[in-house]
Amino acid sequence: MAGDEQTYDYVIVGGGSAGCVLANRLSADPTLTVCLLEAGPADWNPLIHIPIGIIGLMWSRMFNWYYWTVPQQHMNGRRLYWPRGKTLGGSSAINAQCYTRGAAADYDYWEELGNRGWGYRDMLAYFRKSESFEDGEDEFHGGQGSYTVSRGRCNNPLNEKFIEAAVACGYQRNADFGGATDHGFGLYNVAQNNGRRCSNADAFLHPVVHRNNLTVITRAQATRVLINDKQATGVRYRKGWFGGTRDVQARREVLLCGGAINSPQLLMLSGIGARNEIEPHGIKLVHELNGVGRNLQDHLDISVIDIEKTRLSLRLSARFILIDAPVALYQYYRYGQGQLTSNIAESGGFISSDNNPRQSDMQFHFIATIEQDHGNMWNTIKHHGYTLRICDLHPASRGRITLKSANPRDHALIDPNYLAEPRDLAQMVQAVKIGRQIMRAEPLMEHFERELEPGSHVDDDAAIEAYVRKRAETIYHPVGTCRMGSDDMAVVDDRLRVHGITHLRVVDASIMPTVVGGNTNAPTTAIAEKAADMIIADAAV
Ligand SMILES: Cc1cc2nc3c(=O)[nH]c(=O)nc-3n(C[C@H](O)[C@H](O)[C@H](O)COP(=O)(O)OP(=O)(O)OC[C@H]3O[C@@H](n4cnc5c(N)ncnc54)[C@H](O)[C@@H]3O)c2cc1C
Repeated sequence: MAGDEQTYDYVIVGGGSAGCVLANRLSADPTLTVCLLEAGPADWNPLIHIPIGIIGLMWSRMFNWYYWTVPQQHMNGRRLYWPRGKTLGGSSAINAQCYTRGAAADYDYWEELGNRGWGYRDMLAYFRKSESFEDGEDEFHGGQGSYTVSRGRCNNPLNEKFIEAAVACGYQRNADFGGATDHGFGLYNVAQNNGRRCSNADAFLHPVVHRNNLTVITRAQATRVLINDKQATGVRYRKGWFGGTRDVQARREVLLCGGAINSPQLLMLSGIGARNEIEPHGIKLVHELNGVGRNLQDHLDISVIDIEKTRLSLRLSARFILIDAPVALYQYYRYGQGQLTSNIAESGGFISSDNNPRQSDMQFHFIATIEQDHGNMWNTIKHHGYTLRICDLHPASRGRITLKSANPRDHALIDPNYLAEPRDLAQMVQAVKIGRQIMRAEPLMEHFERELEPGSHVDDDAAIEAYVRKRAETIYHPVGTCRMGSDDMAVVDDRLRVHGITHLRVVDASIMPTVVGGNTNAPTTAIAEKAADMIIADAAV
């Protein structure tokens, strides 16, 4: 890390999945200077790097923004917990490492909406560019990138039983969700390198952090984009809790990579957004842009959890703590193998419940332990068991991010507005039914003792609906709040430039017009790869 001067060509806000890619690609040109501001600390904690450490990071207050939604009107008034990464690597430093991309049709739809160059063929080139796949390069996978994608090293035998159960229900096997189709069931590929998490900081930032033209400042929370005459000129940030505020100037562009919650919040704090969202907080309106914070979409997720009688699953028993865990530690540090390399969600699948060959509408994550409330351990101590999480990939409900106040320390108000559309509840009911059907198929039944959730008393649609409202949670894929497009409610154009403000782009999951049908880290990485090419090309004109 270098550079004392406070003027750079590019200032990147947010060292998460997208920000790390931009920092790498833009600083590859030694004639340019790049500054990356990250609100969280450096990614020093071993839990970040040990794949199973996700359990410990879920409720961390140091490496996690620890967000909660506002009470959800259609979910019994519940506030849902939303972890988001707050460290170098962002959410890729605390996520479950499943590597999927969504369907080709998801991207082709973005292009159909009028976003030139965002169709599947264009995006596939960026997926391939970023990736280094353990099985080598082919039509779908990259071999030269630094985002290392591996076959999982720890696969509990129950995963194979789960996949066989899905096949017994008539679904196909899929050995590679990143290949020709995502349909079917199989083991997830994971963002890992030799059994270690490969966050986007590991892939893109750490290998180049020595570059003299790249400055990385951690514990630096941007509080405002500096704008002069509708041109972004720099960023104001707060250094640590007691460091006061500082300004950093951008000769060329300011690039917002704060993620789907923070990027719209920062735009609004900077006076860009809907007048009635900004002025009531005493913030001067700089540019009216009604779509900022709107169009929030997420994958809502519901679980079927069974108690297991054959004791193959992970249980936090005395035996596990005294014998298995020390062995696992040894295996991990000596060979990069064993239980600690588990990403928890080791297998899963994608289906189209209405037989659309081009696009899945449900995703499954199978977990060979009892997983409730984002890693709550209580039932894992009491029982052996396994969990099937099922999410709705294309919800119709739309939510929003708004300001709580003009104070950047205050979390934005997050309202995903889950289940506002009746179609979404019906889909979740269907998800529980399909999940139960797979969990009751013969290969898994030999392990089945009883259903923990929803529970045998939940036996008709009304009861399943009530269960969904009571227990559904996020599977951590919020997007869409700085939507790309050319209509009145779009926030960025198809080169990711903020409408109405020059020298300012948003590059992160918030620009997705519609949520892709899969996990969102690889798509966000590909978005950033494409953005880097556009930024470089636009500078040359
Ligand atoms: C628990 C969890 C599990 C997940 N599991 C998977 C999975 O298995 N597979 C998958 O593909 N995806 C998964 N995801 C989703 C995926 O990680 C995200 O979609 C992706 O990381 C989003 O990237 P981003 O760049 O938009 O935001 P982020 O990666 O969240 O990065 C935003 C960064 O900006 C920083 N920041 C924010 N505001 C400011 C500010 N004002 N000033 C300075 N810095 C700021 C943040 O601290 C953060 O580092 C998961 C996410 C979570 C939280």
